[in-house]
Amino acid sequence: VSACVAEGCHVCDAVGARERHLYSDATWFAFSPAEVPGWVMLATREHVQGMWDLSSEQAESLGPLVRAIGGAVVEATGAHRAHLVYLGESALHFHLMFLPRNEQEPPLLDNSPLVAAAQATGDVEAVRAVAARIRGMLAPH
Ligand SMILES: [Zn+2]
Repeated sequence: VSACVAEGCHVCDAVGARERHLYSDATWFAFSPAEVPGWVMLATREHVQGMWDLSSEQAESLGPLVRAIGGAVVEATGAHRAHLVYLGESALHFHLMFLPRNEQEPPLLDNSPLVAAAQATGDVEAVRAVAARIRGMLAPH
């Protein structure tokens, strides 16, 4: 397994750190990213920029690991559910955040302003054209 060494990448810096380690294998590294019960960050061991760059091996192992970590987060914390967040705004290194959530907690994200702003500047023809391209790319071959 090659070390993750992209310069200036804080996820690379965290991968392999022993003090917050929760799980690791040849492909993945899971750790506690903050002093918050149940928060788990899962990252590729290699510096992979995003979901679009995952190898077949990484992609195939992701689903079972997401299920296992999500289940562990819910069971260990007694939470109602676990949220899975992927933004990648702080680092261009594929990582997911698992967050235990309870019913009485407010939503993590109110996406209505984002949707409204995007739709206000949206181009209906562009939306349809991009949707058609994506549909074509995802069609079974
Ligand atoms: Zn990195």
